[in-house]
Amino acid sequence: MRTTARQTRENRTITVDFQNDATYFQLLGDGKAFVECVLAFLLALGFQLAHKATCHGGGCLTRHSHYVRVRLGGVTIWRLQCTACRAVFTVLPHFVLRYRQMRPEVARDALLATHGGLSLEWCAVIHHISPMALYRLVCALGQHSVVTVLSRCRLPLPVYFLADEKHSRCLTEKVYLPTIVTGRVLWHLGYTTEASAAAFTESYQVFQRAAVDEEPSYRVKGVLTDGFDSTTRSMRTLFPGVRMGICLRHALLKLPKKLVAVASPVRKALRTQFHTLLYRARQRKSLRVFALGQRLRHFVDHVIATAGAANGERVRRWFQNKKTGWYAVLADPQMPATSTLLDQAHNAMERKLFAMKGFHHPKGSQQAFLTGLAHLYNLIPYQRRAKHAGQCGVEVEGGKVPTRDWFLNLQILTSGGFRGVRTRFTT
Ligand SMILES: [Zn+2]
Repeated sequence: MRTTARQTRENRTITVDFQNDATYFQLLGDGKAFVECVLAFLLALGFQLAHKATCHGGGCLTRHSHYVRVRLGGVTIWRLQCTACRAVFTVLPHFVLRYRQMRPEVARDALLATHGGLSLEWCAVIHHISPMALYRLVCALGQHSVVTVLSRCRLPLPVYFLADEKHSRCLTEKVYLPTIVTGRVLWHLGYTTEASAAAFTESYQVFQRAAVDEEPSYRVKGVLTDGFDSTTRSMRTLFPGVRMGICLRHALLKLPKKLVAVASPVRKALRTQFHTLLYRARQRKSLRVFALGQRLRHFVDHVIATAGAANGERVRRWFQNKKTGWYAVLADPQMPATSTLLDQAHNAMERKLFAMKGFHHPKGSQQAFLTGLAHLYNLIPYQRRAKHAGQCGVEVEGGKVPTRDWFLNLQILTSGGFRGVRTRFTT
């Protein structure tokens, strides 16, 4: 078992895109050109090498030593050393996977099939690899924080986001996946066995710490949830003073359940009216909050008139509970109003987790596996015929990826030898 501490101390592997295999083999014979090529690659990406803590990176890079990857047909792998701090970087060409004998083409296809929801076992069958090798590959990718990878793509840390927990099962145990989403990007996919505020706080704190690590002045302004108490409490603990909103679409879905023993047409009509009410409240700009309070009171009167006093009272109490969260959404135009994109991310995860026995391995590294899946979700292109044709979630949200090859991007972005690039944090 590799610990996180050892990872950050020792993993100075970098994956470098040498464009094609022939270029790499040619450069093996020319040390100076090799180093120059690596430096040009770093410069193009705007990445820095992770030197030792005391080093400012002022030294030169020299070719240090090499070894031969026998299992890959004798590929020579070079190490570079910083002349100032003596940190050693292993340079993996784009066609070699770290610690693995699997060819990148095989890994690419197997991961794509995994992402598409095919079980680890079936992915293994079609690619002649062991299911465990694939499971370990996803876990290895998941050793690298989602926040680090997204920051390397120049995505600013989210000032507003959606947070919710997916309920799942690990064998017979109920488990929860605390999730943070903005747009089409997953910022956090955690794993807890309890639904308590303490458990969720611990999970979401992984995101919070990684974010503050990237940008010490990081502040969250608004979070949208479905109103679950543990989620709300964990967010308030981690992000004091944050504006907590409750999803308006969930409000619409919940209303019919508050109306007991009511004829279906009446229930439908009330739902439509409630929809119009929320929609109009969102259209109004400066008076939105005031207008909502007044309209909610009128709506309760209307429920009493059409569905009786008991239903009216139930709806009134429900409004009382939720209205602060709805106000929060309406009071800040930048606040997300519905958690639809988070539900989509959860649905995408659901299909994979359902198909994956590896996930239900009691001694498995669930957290690393989920983080690996989150990287796939963020970096695999989707929507082939739509507006963002061929783009991955990171690009859709305005981030930059190193190359046009999503798998190479995954290799480069999860390399341990790059120092996190400080993202500009917009408030
Ligand atoms: Zn150095």
